[in-house]
Amino acid sequence: MKTILTGIRANSVLTLGNYLGALLPMVRLSNKHSKDFNVNIFVPDLHSIISEIDGDLQKNIIRTLKNYLAAGLVVNENVHIYRQSFVPAHSELCWILNCVASMGEMGRMTQYKEKSEGKASANVGIFDYPVLMAADILLYSAEYVPLGEDQFQHIELTRNLAERFNNKFGEVFTVPVETAKQVEFMGVEKPIRVRDLVNPEKKMSKSTASENSKIMLDDAPEKAAKKIMSATTDSFGEVKFDFDTRPGISNLLFIKSLLTDTPLSEVVAEWEGETRYGELKKSVADDVSNALSSFQAKMAEISDEDVLELFKKGEIYANDVAGQKLLDVQKAVGLR
Ligand code: AMP
Repeated sequence: MKTILTGIRANSVLTLGNYLGALLPMVRLSNKHSKDFNVNIFVPDLHSIISEIDGDLQKNIIRTLKNYLAAGLVVNENVHIYRQSFVPAHSELCWILNCVASMGEMGRMTQYKEKSEGKASANVGIFDYPVLMAADILLYSAEYVPLGEDQFQHIELTRNLAERFNNKFGEVFTVPVETAKQVEFMGVEKPIRVRDLVNPEKKMSKSTASENSKIMLDDAPEKAAKKIMSATTDSFGEVKFDFDTRPGISNLLFIKSLLTDTPLSEVVAEWEGETRYGELKKSVADDVSNALSSFQAKMAEISDEDVLELFKKGEIYANDVAGQKLLDVQKAVGLR
């Protein structure tokens, strides 16, 4: 059985952008394929510590997994849930792959350049985490790794490292499919990018200081509705979908389409030409508030023990699969 692998860092409470752009698409993908694929959903806690943690890491890890469940993840015998740091093979394979990767190719990673920019001294983890990511993927022979566009370069790196290793030491790794095919598999026309509510030229991000710019998944539903009501629009006075000239209104239509799982074309056809922006805002505010109410109610129903139980079961599976692959690698290299 082929494997799909995905994870989301547990550094803080997530935004509506994370929910619509990462969490919900992964949950839908898993629910669609988990009869015929292994679906590995892991919390990359070792990746979390390359940057600041907002709050308590242990609590964040448990909350992140609850987020998947509250977003509708169906867990069956093919869905494996685990914490990266509970599977030591990730760190061990990372070291071996460090000896296959070159300084030059690592220095070209855009994410490294962006994350270290302006820092007097960036930590080595920020430089090296794409190799750990390659280990995360290759240990489970995952062919499909649904990720945002910002991570595509790291998938290419993983493919290169796997091929280089295979050429030198023998066919040990399954090479993940190329990024164009990853996008096809995800079934999205273009990557989802939810915009900042105050400055819709930018993406919604948890690091933006302005509270009204972003909706957090733990915002009270009424508070979130108010943020939508005060979102920046434009002075055209007529609803039209065009991210270039009317990013604010287009963002609201886009959020509506994603939250209600309605094709964008249908949402646009319903609202285009409307001259009262307040009507559209009220409708989207209701969608957001309903979605948050139901999401938060589900979050409250899931106990920490339920999550820990899933982790424990998943970690037995993960250590088994990853341990076997690590042994193959160690033998190929001559360490065993
Ligand atoms: P980050 O919070 O930037 O580490 O991103 C975690 C995941 O959420 C990645 O897959 C991002 O592509 C996705 N994501 C973050 N912000 C947004 C946004 N505003 N719209 C859509 N997806 C997002």
